[in-house]
Amino acid sequence: MPDTINIEANLRHDLADIGYGETSRSTMTVDLSAIRSNYRKLQALAPRSSCGAVVKADAYGLGAGRIAPFLAHLGCSHFFVADVEEGIAIRSVLPSSAKIYVLHGAMPGMEPAAEQHDLLPILNSRQQLDAWLRHCRRRNRALPAGIHVDTGLSRLGFSMEELQTLAENEQGLSELTTALFMSQLACAEWKSEVSLQQLYRFRKLTHLFPKAMLSLSNSAGLFAGRQFHFDLVRPGGGIFGFSTSDHPCFKPSQVVSLRTQIIQCRELRLGDAIGYYQSYKVRRRMRVATASIGYGDGFPRILGNRGHVFICGTRVPIVGFVSMNLMTIDVTELPDSWTAPGTLVDLICPEQTVEDLASAANMLSDELTTGIGRRCRRRYVQC
Ligand SMILES: *Cc1c(COP(=O)(O)O)cnc(C)c1O
Repeated sequence: MPDTINIEANLRHDLADIGYGETSRSTMTVDLSAIRSNYRKLQALAPRSSCGAVVKADAYGLGAGRIAPFLAHLGCSHFFVADVEEGIAIRSVLPSSAKIYVLHGAMPGMEPAAEQHDLLPILNSRQQLDAWLRHCRRRNRALPAGIHVDTGLSRLGFSMEELQTLAENEQGLSELTTALFMSQLACAEWKSEVSLQQLYRFRKLTHLFPKAMLSLSNSAGLFAGRQFHFDLVRPGGGIFGFSTSDHPCFKPSQVVSLRTQIIQCRELRLGDAIGYYQSYKVRRRMRVATASIGYGDGFPRILGNRGHVFICGTRVPIVGFVSMNLMTIDVTELPDSWTAPGTLVDLICPEQTVEDLASAANMLSDELTTGIGRRCRRRYVQC
């Protein structure tokens, strides 16, 4: 166990700093310096390409409003969001030169909003293409957009045949100002035949879009080799510190940490039980602390009676079921002075990275961070 005296001094010293002492809420801390370091490393992997950033789902739950302008400041000028609403949300915090691509395209009727906020829809279907071209004619402007071709994910995008037919029959495609031609890899994490087949399919169509930027790779695609990089790479998770490859040259810096605090502490005896349905039966004298986070904040319920948290670097088991905004932890082994109300409890920290916590819960790192709710405040630090 670490040196008690020093630790007690550090246990709550930054409470005032981050606004604790007023409410019991939890804090996700986002290290912007780590984002900078990850972005630069990814950029260096594809030196001949532009390095964009995928900031959909509120930058994977980290807060696109702060992260997108920070990336723009680092020189990033291509941003990807899921839908028009997300695009509108970041338009006002980005330089007007920044390109914002909308991966889902514009839903019917949203074309004017996309134009008004200077967003580039990625057109995925004949319907989206026709609607965009109708809007362009109405406005008498050649508004740029992207085209997504499906090369094997079967999720979004034109089929290859559909695009070829459109091109051959001069149906619309020639009228479109295509700024970006893209596809998405299905399993770039593994050096696979599938990726090579997708690469081959993508290449077969690039000649249809001689003026467009070409883009194929997400974070994992960056490690698949130079031939996958094209003009623009589109990392998301790699920027936010999630490991997307076991490549020896890339160890992402941890960006996210998550902390809550103790509300109350109690003594329990043989015969007591903990939490809903009394799933944890107490078999000895125990001290149990109640901490202020639960599944309603996005903490995985499956970690009840299974997961761990940390107090001053010491591992503490979660006991009983996780409830909506609370969970109970076994602090029997800790000195009393470490468990006073307001004591910080680390959930994501150097001892337990996002990836560790996610995999304990059988989740992906981005599945975990996108689920961390709005009750949990975001705090941004930079060194
Ligand atoms: C989410 C997404 C990305 C980013 O993926 P990561 O694996 O997080 O790097 C890139 N392109 C598309 C089309 C996406 O949907």
